[in-house]
Amino acid sequence: MSADRAAALRSLPSVDQLVRRVAADPALAGLSRARLTAAVREALEAERRRVREQGVPPADADTLAARVVDGVRRAGLFSLRPVINASGVVLHTNLGRALLSDLARERVAAVAAAYSNLEMDLASKERGSRYSHVEALLRRLTGAEDALVVNNNAAAVLLALETLAHGKEVIVSRGELIEIGGEFRIPDIMLRSGAVLREVGATNRTHLRDYADAIGPTTALLLKVHTSNYRVIGFTADVSSRELVELGRERGVAVMEDLGSGSLVDLRPWGFPYEPTVPEVVASGVDLVSFSGDKLLGGPQAGIVVGKRAIVSRLKKNPWNRALRIDKFTIAALEGTLTAYEDGTAREAVPTLRLLTEPLATVVARARRVLRGLGAEAAQRLAARVDEGRAQVGGGALPTVELPTAGVSLGATDAAARALDAALRVGDPPVVGRLVEDRLFLDCRTVLPAQVAGLVKAIVSAARP
Ligand SMILES: *Cc1c(COP(=O)(O)O)cnc(C)c1O
Repeated sequence: MSADRAAALRSLPSVDQLVRRVAADPALAGLSRARLTAAVREALEAERRRVREQGVPPADADTLAARVVDGVRRAGLFSLRPVINASGVVLHTNLGRALLSDLARERVAAVAAAYSNLEMDLASKERGSRYSHVEALLRRLTGAEDALVVNNNAAAVLLALETLAHGKEVIVSRGELIEIGGEFRIPDIMLRSGAVLREVGATNRTHLRDYADAIGPTTALLLKVHTSNYRVIGFTADVSSRELVELGRERGVAVMEDLGSGSLVDLRPWGFPYEPTVPEVVASGVDLVSFSGDKLLGGPQAGIVVGKRAIVSRLKKNPWNRALRIDKFTIAALEGTLTAYEDGTAREAVPTLRLLTEPLATVVARARRVLRGLGAEAAQRLAARVDEGRAQVGGGALPTVELPTAGVSLGATDAAARALDAALRVGDPPVVGRLVEDRLFLDCRTVLPAQVAGLVKAIVSAARP
């Protein structure tokens, strides 16, 4: 290296100097010292490389500081952060599924900030159960004798199969051997649990006699699985929970239903098709029912199991249960969520239900607010207008339902729409829309009222010429 270049490199500010300069920038408030230092080191290293390789004079300290601030902001202060969901998929698994109600969030914050009676019965000072905080609520809301909550519904199914059917046969209809996505396939879960899958019926039709004929000395369970993310239509037949329960009783075999989404309320009054609710399935006499906490229920990620006391208590005693257990935040959020159901306020209080049932007119009004917020000049440049469309429930729930929706569509050309889509995703706040034909459609059904201003700001800055 020439003496010139060595001198140039020495003129670069030190890590400490640059950290001090950058730390004062209000845009980076909240960023830890360690992350700041890492960002500064990276910027200095890149500059040294540039000087060495290109023989150019190094940037001054102000320029370097601005580069660090810019880079950190572009990458986001944190890796996991809020996003504006303008995809129109209400339960978007990749965007975190359900949002928590105000009460659920308050409960999480309260339990996070102080010690809690997680596993202590305060009256007796004896060791308590972490599940006790939601068990009674779940019993009352579903009508079941007992309840258990694990990490997610996949874990619930695994735990149930491992407990009840390890080394034994489980009978499942061929029409219900589903893949949910994210590596959850009923046959694979079955294998991992040590249970032996006994498929019966055909893809489109399974009859009660198919189950009856398959029951043998090693049959431990009749399993009914909600087909969640797909529908077989046309010449079809399946067996109801009630019929399976009768058969199970007659032959002394337990019956489990994996409901997938599992709603506590009937959504028909808001135009949704009929789906058996959890209390209905429990009332049909099924021994064990499992469902997700963060699908239609609208709570935290969890797998909820309700059913007959004798069977649920076997699941509770399985050592696997300890490995699949939920933490205090999940319990706090679940208690807050379930409380709204008990109070009869779930439709308004639980964001998932609110977003699903919001009248089209309200969504249109929100889309218009976004359009107005853009201002005439930007709106024209982006060829922005309010369009109607079809949103989805998502999360493998109600796959055939198309929710009427409205949003702002953008992009004078296909290329412009794609460029905007890419810019919005890496903007601040990030926005995830969907490309419809050759336009970018920002679906306002899933945009929260409090996010409208942020969405406008994000569009304007993504579209800056
Ligand atoms: C979604 C789903 C699961 C997995 O639930 P998670 O809570 O995501 O683990 C299992 N079974 C069915 C039928 C489902 O729809």
